[in-house]
Amino acid sequence: MMDRFNHLWINGEKVTLPETKEVFSPATGEKVGIVPNGGREVTEQAIESAFNAYKTWSVLPAGERSHYLQDWADRILKNSLELAEILSAEQGKPVRESREEIEGSCDFIYWYAEEAKRNYGELIPGSKKNQRIMVFRQPVGVAALITPWNFPAAMVTRKTAPALAAGCTVILKPASQTPMIAIALFQHLMDTGIPAGVANLVTGKSSEIGDTLLSDSRVRKISFTGSTGVGKELMRKAADQVKRISLELGGNAPVIIFPDSDMDLAADAIVANKFENCGQVCNGINLIYVHQEAADELTEKIVERVRRLKVGPPAEPDVNLGPLIDGSELRKVESLIEDAREKGAHILCGGKRLQEEKYQNGHYYAPTVLNQVNQEMRLVHEEIFGPVAPILTFESEEEVISRCNNTPYGLAAYVFTKDVARVYRMSESLETGMVAVNSTSLSVPQAPFGGIKESGMGREGGHYGLEEFLNIKYVSLNLGE
Ligand code: NAP
Repeated sequence: MMDRFNHLWINGEKVTLPETKEVFSPATGEKVGIVPNGGREVTEQAIESAFNAYKTWSVLPAGERSHYLQDWADRILKNSLELAEILSAEQGKPVRESREEIEGSCDFIYWYAEEAKRNYGELIPGSKKNQRIMVFRQPVGVAALITPWNFPAAMVTRKTAPALAAGCTVILKPASQTPMIAIALFQHLMDTGIPAGVANLVTGKSSEIGDTLLSDSRVRKISFTGSTGVGKELMRKAADQVKRISLELGGNAPVIIFPDSDMDLAADAIVANKFENCGQVCNGINLIYVHQEAADELTEKIVERVRRLKVGPPAEPDVNLGPLIDGSELRKVESLIEDAREKGAHILCGGKRLQEEKYQNGHYYAPTVLNQVNQEMRLVHEEIFGPVAPILTFESEEEVISRCNNTPYGLAAYVFTKDVARVYRMSESLETGMVAVNSTSLSVPQAPFGGIKESGMGREGGHYGLEEFLNIKYVSLNLGE
């Protein structure tokens, strides 16, 4: 695998560079590949290539753009196991989970292959007899797509597919920890025969690449998924040229369980969400608020399920959790638990790094549940992004809403109850971009995924996701006498 991904994609060609960057397995610490360590120069080439390709791609009939997308997804699906192994090698999640991600990534491409054809305009009655008002929806131009390491395939297709469907050309910049799966996905895109320059990919020095993309007036759109800190920086820089920008940032998602809930359903759904991808999910549950009447019952059910989770290397069968992405994430999780322990939290299971022989050199942390959690603890306010489930209790609906809204984040929230009126009250009062009721699953191709407050702006998925890559143009036509 080592050399296979040592290239960028610029103008339909593989481009290698003398300077390279290593990619490591989070499971073993071993080097699993090298990729080019690009910067300003290759980014400028990628912009040039995307800008030139835009002239023809943007006016290609939507049905033809759609064919390329369909073909891309077909090719990915045919190779889903191989791609899942590449993803797991650099990201660490179990191969089964990687395969689900690869297949889910295709759902986005198929969906946008169809949506490309439904980019309808509008005809509005004029103010005068002979006036006609038309509204066109046109591609924004060259789009820069910056993706994180936690869903390194899904984030690539969730941005690339709507951008290409809308008629934009793209420059993708994947995360340094997980560039190989992006390069591999682009190989399949190039194999469709898509015109040169429509899709370009650069890896390397993120701030240099980012600054080049942001300072070039030919780039008209930035679509970023990642941390809130970097998102704010990009937003400040995008202001200079008033570039369109979408931001999918961090979260601090609560799940709220009322005493009338089905506790087995809630426990299953909470554990599935919280420990997916080793807890490294932007809309992953950060805090579990259970009504005090149901706290003992739900806590017992969660702990019982978490104790059964199997942690191990990605290729091992039946593994539920792999390692954390790197040493710094592992140390962050350790320090959050240390802080909570010192401030009085009670660790019900886990609460330590895994260091037995098979975990050596990997960034493994035991699936952890804790209660006696209070507002003084850092993990109540910070995004944990690890396999840690803190349980808090509440007494009333008003109180829990106010505690959940007391955060700068606003990505997702989950509610368990059988009371329909409460479903409405909670859905309307929680300050988040998404609410799931009696479930903890949110990302599907047809729905608008995204946050409010410091969790970002713009949406991915559904027709909303296409609109992020479209400008509205109003044309007033005088028909004459
Ligand atoms: P990150 O450090 O912000 O990195 C994300 C991407 O931005 C990477 O490709 C990174 O490249 C790049 N980058 C970093 N600094 C940059 C700069 N100055 N200019 C341009 N690009 C720059 O985030 P992460 O740690 O990879 O991802 C975890 C975060 O993503 C979490 O907070 C999570 O909640 C969030 N997330 C949100 C969503 C959502 O939909 N809301 C989905 C998934 C993840 P390098 O890796 O090369 O530095």
